Amino acid sequence: MRFSDSLSTVPNIGETYEKRLKKLGITTVRDLLFHFPSTYHDLSQITSIAEIKEGRNYCVVGKILDIQNVQTFKKRMNITSAIIEDKTGNIKIVWFNQPYLITALKKGTNIYVAGKVTRGKNGVSFSSPSYEKFSEESTHTGRIIPVYPETIGVSSRWLRYIIKPLLDKLPKDIEDALPKDILQERNLMPLLEALLQIHFPDSLARAELAKKRFAFEELFYISLFVLTERKKLATVKAVSIPFPETSMQKFTKALSFQLTGAQKKAAWYILKDLEKPRPMNRLLQGDVGSGKTVVAAMAALSVVKAGYQAAFMAPTEILAQQHFKTVGQILAPFKVTVGLLTGKTDRFISPKLPNDYIEISREKLLDRAKKGDIDLLIGTHALIQDKVKFGNLALLIVDEQHRFGVKQRAKLVHNPSTSSGQTLIPHLLSMTATPIPRTLALTLYGDLDLVLIDELPKGRKKIETKIIRPTERQKAYEFIHQQVDKGRQVFVICPRIEKTEGAPSGIEMKTVKEEHEKLSKKVFPDLQVQMLHGKMAQKEKEEIMRKFKYGRIDILVSTSVVEVGVDIPNASVMMIEGADRFGLAQLHQFRGRVGRAEHQSYCFLFTESPSATTRQRLAALVKSENGFVLAEKDLKIRGPGDFAGVKQWGIPDFAMEQLCNLELVQESRETAKQLLDKDLTLKNYPLLATQIQSLREKLHLE
Ligand code: ADP
Ligand code: MG
Repeated sequence: MRFSDSLSTVPNIGETYEKRLKKLGITTVRDLLFHFPSTYHDLSQITSIAEIKEGRNYCVVGKILDIQNVQTFKKRMNITSAIIEDKTGNIKIVWFNQPYLITALKKGTNIYVAGKVTRGKNGVSFSSPSYEKFSEESTHTGRIIPVYPETIGVSSRWLRYIIKPLLDKLPKDIEDALPKDILQERNLMPLLEALLQIHFPDSLARAELAKKRFAFEELFYISLFVLTERKKLATVKAVSIPFPETSMQKFTKALSFQLTGAQKKAAWYILKDLEKPRPMNRLLQGDVGSGKTVVAAMAALSVVKAGYQAAFMAPTEILAQQHFKTVGQILAPFKVTVGLLTGKTDRFISPKLPNDYIEISREKLLDRAKKGDIDLLIGTHALIQDKVKFGNLALLIVDEQHRFGVKQRAKLVHNPSTSSGQTLIPHLLSMTATPIPRTLALTLYGDLDLVLIDELPKGRKKIETKIIRPTERQKAYEFIHQQVDKGRQVFVICPRIEKTEGAPSGIEMKTVKEEHEKLSKKVFPDLQVQMLHGKMAQKEKEEIMRKFKYGRIDILVSTSVVEVGVDIPNASVMMIEGADRFGLAQLHQFRGRVGRAEHQSYCFLFTESPSATTRQRLAALVKSENGFVLAEKDLKIRGPGDFAGVKQWGIPDFAMEQLCNLELVQESRETAKQLLDKDLTLKNYPLLATQIQSLREKLHLE
């Protein structure tokens, strides 16, 4: 038997199960063996019901004497109440809002129950314990048995029945990708032992050790990958851009404000990077409103002054247009030709007409870019199409796309642009307002050099953030009206554009369309209320943004399209409906859309969710205005899966949790470093090299 064998070679898996497993992404023996339990039932620790005392955790095995659903009318909750019995006595069990349990757990069924026993109004009971139907097969085992992630049609019991014999047949000399010396040095379980122990552990402690080995392995591959990428870049060439002392002085003088110390520092790092004949790989992190765009403009200017082209990619058309206007304006005194390439209308600003733009056909714009005749091309993803060629591109700036700038540059490189024949890799400046927690910076972002703008421009006022209860809605609307009377503008964010058909009833979610209707007709009939969302035509969106920018709209009801980058200094209220639907980092981004000028600004969080975690999360936002603190909190509360860009890595769940474990992260990185110092190309470690290659493919860097 080999890992790569298909499921059809495994005994007792028929076609039906093969299909079901395929839905879980399991197609080979390896996939099956790496489908790890989510928890265990410790059958070696069964307590007799007579011995149970309240307030503690127990595992018991018993037969269901009675089970029924009870509806509580006051709280509209379903309670499933059961009584189980063993030889020594009986005890009650309650589950909340799982009415379907009663079809699965019939009277007379033997079940295993694990959880806390508490005292309620009606005596002592298990409260929402985990449970499993209990068969003869496992009764006599008296050991720790695995419980696999719940899925339809593939039960834990079935998986145990299939996996156990597979494990017994595993060859003793199964190849371990982790080298022996690393296993020893880091005190990690060898592969065979770890596989046995993670499925059928001798003790829960052994199961933990097995899990640690696999988590380490995943983190180790990530570290190997990012560090190899880093070393690879150090061996290729880029244009060296001389430090543009005089243009920078001229540039800062021409600005209408003074750069903050942090902006100067960040610019300095970047310009120093550009001086080197190796491609820059910089991630500029700066909270919303910290002024990253000017710093990007400085980088672009220095490249243009040296006679090369720069490209500036934004995540949305709205932002691309905004950058085109603001950056075009900032660079106007420097005779820079700026082009705008989006999905729809293309334009450019010429040095002869620095304060206006000219519409231009796509062919002409692309032709000019190819000739090197556009100094700075700003745009959306349209920039990285095959059709787009640059005469002499030296810098790619990517706004608000986290680490994916790396991927975009890779695409540009595959689409050779240099006319000189020599492959020069463009420098990369990636910008993000999403702060990256330390553990992620060390792993997923480990190939990038980070620089921080950790200071906001002077005079910004603290944004007052409040959680608004449903009963206070009217008061909030009155307040909003007063703000508009003072000349300010307002954003209203909704989680959805419109009602989706077939959405579960009872879950009320505010939609842009309905709120727009309500606010414009009923709440603020005297004000200008408009909406903006992704399904609108491009022209229409532009028109709305333009009107909002020029103050001809008072209240803009929108989806998260305004999440990143949009700059409307006159807006003073950010009102977020269904705030519990968004992550902290995202809410913080929304909040950053206001308070961008001298006006005192407000962020109102509306939520109907009674959950304690929601409260806790939103309270964190009220308390902290520091994006980094919020990112670390988000990581703790929601895990890394929500961080932008994390999903693409395809990290298995068990390793995902460990992505927050600083110690393990540092350990895996250190180990990877040491190994690459010895063997950069991993020629002595073909199994590791394969892993790295598959990560590269997963991230589409090929
Ligand atoms: P972000 O970092 O979120 O992309 P922007 O670059 O959009 O921020 O800048 C936010 C606003 O702050 C813009 O209106 C910009 O002109 C202004 N700004 C940038 N730097 C400064 C500064 N040093 N002093 C005052 N205002 C600044
Ligand atoms: Mg920005």
